[in-house]
Amino acid sequence: MVPDPHPLHEVNENQCQVCMPLGGVMALKGIADSMVLVHGSQGCSTYMRLSMVEHFNEPVDIASSSLNEKQTIYGGEENFRKGLDNIIRVYRPKVIGVVTTCLTETMGEDTGRMIGTYLADRSLHGIDIIPISTPSYSGTQSEGFWTAVRDLIVYYTTTVSPHEGVNIIVAQISPADTREIKRIARLMGVMITLVPDISMTLDRPYGILYEKIPPGGTRREDIAGMGGAKATIQFGYCCPDPLSPGKYLEEEYGVPLYNIPLPTGLMNMDRFIRALVSITKKPVPQSIMLERGWLCDAMADAHKCLAEIRPAVYGDPELVYAVSSLCVENGAIPALVATGTTSSRFSREILSLTQDGERQPEILEQADFSGIGATAAQKGVNLAIGHSGGKVLTERHGIPLVRAGYPVHDRLGGQRILTLGYTGTLSLLDTISNTYLEEKYRTYRQLRRTEFYDRGGVIHAET
Ligand code: SF4
Repeated sequence: MVPDPHPLHEVNENQCQVCMPLGGVMALKGIADSMVLVHGSQGCSTYMRLSMVEHFNEPVDIASSSLNEKQTIYGGEENFRKGLDNIIRVYRPKVIGVVTTCLTETMGEDTGRMIGTYLADRSLHGIDIIPISTPSYSGTQSEGFWTAVRDLIVYYTTTVSPHEGVNIIVAQISPADTREIKRIARLMGVMITLVPDISMTLDRPYGILYEKIPPGGTRREDIAGMGGAKATIQFGYCCPDPLSPGKYLEEEYGVPLYNIPLPTGLMNMDRFIRALVSITKKPVPQSIMLERGWLCDAMADAHKCLAEIRPAVYGDPELVYAVSSLCVENGAIPALVATGTTSSRFSREILSLTQDGERQPEILEQADFSGIGATAAQKGVNLAIGHSGGKVLTERHGIPLVRAGYPVHDRLGGQRILTLGYTGTLSLLDTISNTYLEEKYRTYRQLRRTEFYDRGGVIHAET
């Protein structure tokens, strides 16, 4: 462990989260034929565009109402209307999500009324414009994401006849993880409505015709039918009830809710499979049992080195919970668990993972990386798991980092990081083990030499 040469933990530095409307944009990008208007200044949408392009390595179009000083004083409705006109002319979307920003929320812009007036003045057919309130000073990308998913479901879902489909509402996961959930559902023979579906929209294969709005995403017709599904499986274990889309479907349409953790780790993935079996009464196919068997084999292989790891896990609450659970079931009890947001459920669920009072992790909410770094140094953390924001842990403290979650902007392939399912868990487990082993053997001789001299060892010259 390298001591912190910049003891800056008393100031707020390097936030652990990204901003609330960005979470809303992420959810909207998983809806078919959709575009986003960020109602605020240019800087907000530029930041979101840059952040998403760096992570997904894809062109990401986000429109802005582009408010400046004048509109800040006199109101942004004119720009807002121009923005909508331009989006409709250039992109011809079926869905426009309007996310607000710190600026427009502070100004008190009533986007619901502004959309109503706009629609009354234009004769638009087949275009839905949905307001989503995302004041970044009251939440992080996690709250923005759940707010947007819930608002979309509230907007579209109607009373329909019961059907055999199952709703799957995912947290912020990668396109590769989204494809994995769809693959598992296909193997199980379950018809699903998956919201949001970024498997294609934020990871377009090379060679398909370029379109301004990428193909794929959840169709609004499918969201409309979610009220008739047999059940909802929601990977929103730490999501507060008022933001929970699955809770809304349960209360308004009587759709039973299975609110479970992201299926990273053996226990969590078993829980997902058990939920699918319990809802559909279908047997688990042999191919899935084989994948489970390979994961169990990998866990047996890895347990010796994993017991030496004192990890710090940080980022979006859902990912942090699932990865912490994976660490615990493999004997790598986290020394530190941190998230940029705050939620009573998060701390409670993390603490419930470990029964051993001696080794319970330090939990930081509303964390930044100066606090995470200082606590990691104090707790003897020897590996970190989370997004690229944690690179300062390597730079300042020499802690190796396994990149997972959002954003990963200093490596390629953020969109392809697979952490879900038995297969994704196995891949993550190997990466964690090998990152630790690489660091261990890189520093092994130096450590032994230091220990030798610390004990007063002397090397005698040969006679
Ligand atoms: S001003 Fe607010 S909404 Fe805009 S980028 Fe910053 S945190 Fe996000």
